[in-house]
Amino acid sequence: MDRLDHDILKCKKCERLVNYRNNREVPLKFKNCKYWNKPVLGYGDINGNLLVIGMAPAFNGGNRTGRIFTGDKSSDFLISSLYEAGFTNIPTSENRNDGLKYNNMYITLAVRCAPPDNIPLKSEIANCSSYLHNEIDSMKNLKAVLCLGKLAFDSALSYLKIKKINTKKLKFINGKYYEINNIRLYSSYHPSPRNVNTKLLKKNDFINLLRSIDNYVKS
Ligand code: SF4
Repeated sequence: MDRLDHDILKCKKCERLVNYRNNREVPLKFKNCKYWNKPVLGYGDINGNLLVIGMAPAFNGGNRTGRIFTGDKSSDFLISSLYEAGFTNIPTSENRNDGLKYNNMYITLAVRCAPPDNIPLKSEIANCSSYLHNEIDSMKNLKAVLCLGKLAFDSALSYLKIKKINTKKLKFINGKYYEINNIRLYSSYHPSPRNVNTKLLKKNDFINLLRSIDNYVKS
């Protein structure tokens, strides 16, 4: 993993994303922050049973703080929910030195660099896919994968296709799972402020989903 992380940190395959993070204006409330402005790495226990896949870092979230799902509204929702289900040691994710640890899970991204409007191009998703595939291969105790959003789900499918698994019948459906070679592939709406504020993703439903995943991986 150290070698993989080293390669990711050096990566500049997506010129548009490198330019974006280097040139985008910083909001006033963060004007005194030193932005990470590099690819954001996966984090947690690579020997755990659960892999959570997010979409891409937010410019003022992971791209600012330098840690996945840290320092923004999506992180607040996700980490407090994971905490309720026992997957983290604290309910918040504010900065790289806050002591957050994941229990029995690893969390990563389909795309490592913050995209404009939070929407990466297909070519950028493809450029970044080998990093995710390497992480999945490294998880020797994997029992469940939770995809946060359709983009994350499609990235998991790209891995399955490489493994010659027929994915035609697999559709992104919030809260549903598929059993594939003894591994459960779960889907959820992404915990973005838009999905949370419109109640597309409800906190209780999400916590219940996480608890059911916890029960499954421990069974
Ligand atoms: S998004 Fe991925 S492939 Fe593109 S520059 Fe960042 S780390 Fe490299």
